[in-house]
Amino acid sequence: MKLVFLGPPGAGKGTMATRLADHLTIPHISTGDIFRFNIKNQTELGKRVKAILDSGELVPDDLTIELVEDRLTKDDAKNGFILDGFPRTIPQAEALSKRESLDAVVNFELKDEEVIKRLSGRRVHPASGRTYHVLFSPPTVEGQDDETGEPLVQRDDDKEEAIANRLRVYRAQTEPLIAYYRDKGTLDDLDSAPAPDLVFTALKEVLRV
Ligand code: AMP
Repeated sequence: MKLVFLGPPGAGKGTMATRLADHLTIPHISTGDIFRFNIKNQTELGKRVKAILDSGELVPDDLTIELVEDRLTKDDAKNGFILDGFPRTIPQAEALSKRESLDAVVNFELKDEEVIKRLSGRRVHPASGRTYHVLFSPPTVEGQDDETGEPLVQRDDDKEEAIANRLRVYRAQTEPLIAYYRDKGTLDDLDSAPAPDLVFTALKEVLRV
């Protein structure tokens, strides 16, 4: 299955993509994760995009499109994939449509106030990518990863100012994709407010998998 996950930051796209990728044995391709990996490893790409990610702005389309096109040529993506965080602009969607025909686009819906609550409490274990939430899924020991005991951190773009900017960017540049895919008849709306297990069940129902 070739899938795109749309929705505001913090709607749970990443969590659901990880679970569904496992369920369907297809790769979960997150452009945000690819950029963060490059930043952590201080690659040329990482150095170019660090300030952009920290501020919550979008990486330029040409760079992002090239990165995803390259990733989609890998063998593991031949029979399906979940794109999480791509496309985020109309030009990105147009570039994708030239090479792939999608089975479904899932629109994870979540209100702004809920987005802010979720993102500001999110904490990550940088080495593994495990995520926690100070209120909704706290680690056993405050501030420490359950498996390694290493410190948890807050992503720079989960700080208050960057969250507001990411939401603005989402509404201005990414939300138009909802109408774009709705017109093509490939869009499925999914309420992301319930607990993760419920959202995952609803997701599988919507996709009939
Ligand atoms: P995410 O983890 O999906 O929230 O992405 C984190 C950040 O990576 C975004 O705020 C952007 O700066 C950048 N990013 C991720 N995906 C894209 C994309 N498709 N186009 C442009 N920038 C992106």
